[in-house]
Amino acid sequence: MTETVRVRFAPSPTGALHIGGAHTALFNWLWARRMGGSFILRIEDSDRQRSTEAFEKTILSGMRWLGLDWDEGPDCGGDYGPYRQSERLDIYHRYAEELVGRGLAYREGEAIIQHVPQDRTLLFEDIVYGSIEIKSETIKDTVLIKSDGTPTYNFAVVVDDHTMAINYVIRGEDHIINTPKQILVYDALGWEIPHFAHLPMILGEDKKKLSKRQGATSVYDYRDLGYIPEGIFNFLALLGWSAGEDKEIFDRDEATALFDLSKVIKRKAVFDMKKLGFVNQEHLKRLDPARRLELISPFWKDLGLGKGNFDEAYLLRALDLLEGRGQTLKEMAEYSDFFLSFGPVKARYDGKDLSDETRAVLAPFFEALLELETWNHDAMADLARHWAGEQGMKLKDLAMPLRWALTGRKVSPGIFEVAAHLGREEVRHRLRHYGLAG
Ligand code: GLU
Repeated sequence: MTETVRVRFAPSPTGALHIGGAHTALFNWLWARRMGGSFILRIEDSDRQRSTEAFEKTILSGMRWLGLDWDEGPDCGGDYGPYRQSERLDIYHRYAEELVGRGLAYREGEAIIQHVPQDRTLLFEDIVYGSIEIKSETIKDTVLIKSDGTPTYNFAVVVDDHTMAINYVIRGEDHIINTPKQILVYDALGWEIPHFAHLPMILGEDKKKLSKRQGATSVYDYRDLGYIPEGIFNFLALLGWSAGEDKEIFDRDEATALFDLSKVIKRKAVFDMKKLGFVNQEHLKRLDPARRLELISPFWKDLGLGKGNFDEAYLLRALDLLEGRGQTLKEMAEYSDFFLSFGPVKARYDGKDLSDETRAVLAPFFEALLELETWNHDAMADLARHWAGEQGMKLKDLAMPLRWALTGRKVSPGIFEVAAHLGREEVRHRLRHYGLAG
């Protein structure tokens, strides 16, 4: 019988859920879901100075936002809390004492230190990086319990992974150097070592380690920029793994069905903002319209645009007319601002005024437009074609000024669709404001 996969994500609550952490969590989650296994969340808060409850909270809510649900943990009001190292100190002490008792560790003051045998070859097979071998003489005796009574990372992580029956340790490449030290602890305690898979580091576009210097680093920074969980999920999954030649856009279920840990490539992955924008846009297009409306609303609000005056059907149709414009919710909110208020249009229009001559030619057309019996796209398009034909003008000579007056932009959804949606009175109001209609 094959063993049930058990994986864990073990963040230290010393910062928000950053992109690298989310990537590690995601790959663990995918492997657990793919294999029908369990995904465990463990907060490594044994560094009491640097760990805070606030960081723990944001890590947990960031994971929920991404949809990375974990499968077990202490009961916390109907939900699972995470395991916390700070609540397991007696367990680390018990095993450290056991090693002292067996002569494999010794006390130095309050601290407990492991004897490291000098003649060993420490070998492990990494699923991503292949065989890794280290001579034990390169490792000095290692602190297991510090003099303040807290365990070191390399000790606690082994005790936790073993006692939680973790059989796949999937984490960032920066932990490869810690693995031999951890193997020494497994050996000393007579425990079987798990499978290891270290994930390639994510680099910024400047090919340097992703850091605050390059701007947004936490998952919530991206949420605030208008990326949606589906987009971030898909994008992160593509860093170091591929779902198949031309399969770039997928949802959670598709990723789960295709994911394979042995296909993770060890090449460092670059965090490509253009790609993220593309992937996010594809997911914005696929969003359920009602959810899209709900998600975009705070971004309209940030722009100072209230949706109070409009009913849901009007707003849904406005977003529909955008036809996938905008790579983020923020961009979508910006591109659609003219549906909610004339204010930004006026601001953008300033200085783009038409010559008196052009006005004289256009005014009668706009008058006729406002007098149309039927206020819809087809009637407007017919009128415009007819009018342009008679005046020897091009359709765009009419459409462009109308576009400017209604949206304040050179590019917009079909302008007659926009006019139809804004309604006759609003169009009259905007044209009047520029003296283009009486
Ligand atoms: N707390 C460690 C970290 O955040 C966990 C490393 C591990 O997964 O073993 O890097």
